[in-house]
Amino acid sequence: MGKGPIVYKSLSELQIIQQNGDLLGRVLAEVAKRMVPGVKTIDLDTIAYEYILDHGAKPSFKGLYGCPSTLLTSVNEAVVHGLPNDTVLKEGDIVSVDCGVFKDGFHADSAYTFAVGEIKPETQALMDATLQSLLLGVAQVRAGNRVGDVSNVIQTYVESLGYSVVRELVGHGVGAKLHESPDVPNFGKRGIGPLLQEGVVIAVEPMVNLGRRNVVTERDNWTIRTVDRKVSAHYEHTVAVHDGKPMVLTTFKFIEEVLKTTYGEAIVH
Ligand code: MG
Ligand code: MG
Repeated sequence: MGKGPIVYKSLSELQIIQQNGDLLGRVLAEVAKRMVPGVKTIDLDTIAYEYILDHGAKPSFKGLYGCPSTLLTSVNEAVVHGLPNDTVLKEGDIVSVDCGVFKDGFHADSAYTFAVGEIKPETQALMDATLQSLLLGVAQVRAGNRVGDVSNVIQTYVESLGYSVVRELVGHGVGAKLHESPDVPNFGKRGIGPLLQEGVVIAVEPMVNLGRRNVVTERDNWTIRTVDRKVSAHYEHTVAVHDGKPMVLTTFKFIEEVLKTTYGEAIVH
């Protein structure tokens, strides 16, 4: 993933990333509006692509490492890196949607797992726990903490509920490049790893499996799925240390507005 030294950002640079994060939240909200049975993941990708271009930004993923798409759409047992295609989503599916936007020299990176119609309670519980683990991780992004403090709180929480964390893929620094130093694993010990200091920007992105932690790459050479084919969830925020505290640069607020309208259910914050 990220290579080289950590690149610390100024406040004005953090503000650019936050503006991009705002746009990214609106992109994911556009996706949320259409997350209903019968939609194809490729259609969600087109909507996101056009929305990003219409707002003067570029999709971060398209073209990076040969990625053909704006979104990565990972359905059910797919963990991450699913490619949008003609797959028709059906009632009971969950879809982890990962997206990045680039504007004014900086990226923002965020992901959210959506339910398609009614889903099993055990699947909803996995999603709630994954989102909660993200928020616990974000709260550790403080001056003087180390990456291991973020990693450990995520792993400890998730495993206490009987879920498992994926180890092959990790969070990362974010900035002028989508993937910068440091790596941010979702497992590890407290007090180890790079020191978090003012101006560091990282993507915290727990990938949590209902069953075992093991994953495999599909024959399309992109999609990462669980070996046991049980479902997996993924949420991601780009977050900085500012004034010593976490400054979340991406947002789920626009998504949550849509989901409340669509499903009329309380959303976990
Ligand atoms: Mg991402
Ligand atoms: Mg990321």
